[in-house]
Amino acid sequence: MIIAVDGPAASGKGTIARALARHYKLPHLDTGLLYRAVAAAVLKDEFDPANEADAVSACSFDDYTLDDPWLKSEEVGKAASIVSAHPLVRAALLLRQKKFAHQSGGAVLDGRDIGTVIAPDADVKLFIKATPMIRAQRRHMELRKRGIVTSLDKVLADIRARDERDAKRPSAPMVPAPDAVMLDTSFLSIDAALQRAIAIVEAQKARQGAAAE
Ligand code: C5P
Repeated sequence: MIIAVDGPAASGKGTIARALARHYKLPHLDTGLLYRAVAAAVLKDEFDPANEADAVSACSFDDYTLDDPWLKSEEVGKAASIVSAHPLVRAALLLRQKKFAHQSGGAVLDGRDIGTVIAPDADVKLFIKATPMIRAQRRHMELRKRGIVTSLDKVLADIRARDERDAKRPSAPMVPAPDAVMLDTSFLSIDAALQRAIAIVEAQKARQGAAAE
């Protein structure tokens, strides 16, 4: 079973994808980390994330760099949304994601284009959303816990800018697949959101089972 989990930053998609992977005992790939690894390499070399050739030259990173905690920073996240708009960067990372999605036994992947580009054939497609203000509040709290002091207004502005870049880029923009099920986590606890996600997967499995009979 392939489960595609897409959605904007701080929507809860990563938490839901990880929990679904645990629940269904499937391997999980956070595809945002791949773009973050490219962005981190570009920044380390003092290259320009907006320059496609610079970004492409950073696409063959070593797997161990995916464990670098710096990848989770706001600085790298912002640069990731810039490098990810380059079609050649997306092309360089495509095969790795497709292979992960289509391994035997299935997988859970989260990102922006899983249900539309990486695995349009996914058995279940979820699009996780939440209002920009709620996402900003979550991100703001998370940053505070990590000892990073910044204003809520700045976090909200960054989230809006990232949404705009991710949704408006011509190459694999962040859009729900036509057959994705929307899950709004704005007013749900993590546990409630997860229960809804599992219910959606179960309903989809039941539909597919009935169709196969
Ligand atoms: O999900 P995360 O915030 O870690 O992703 C960082 C950036 O990587 C996103 O803002 C987006 O621009 C890009 N991304 C993407 N396609 C994916 C996953 C992430 O374009 N499948």
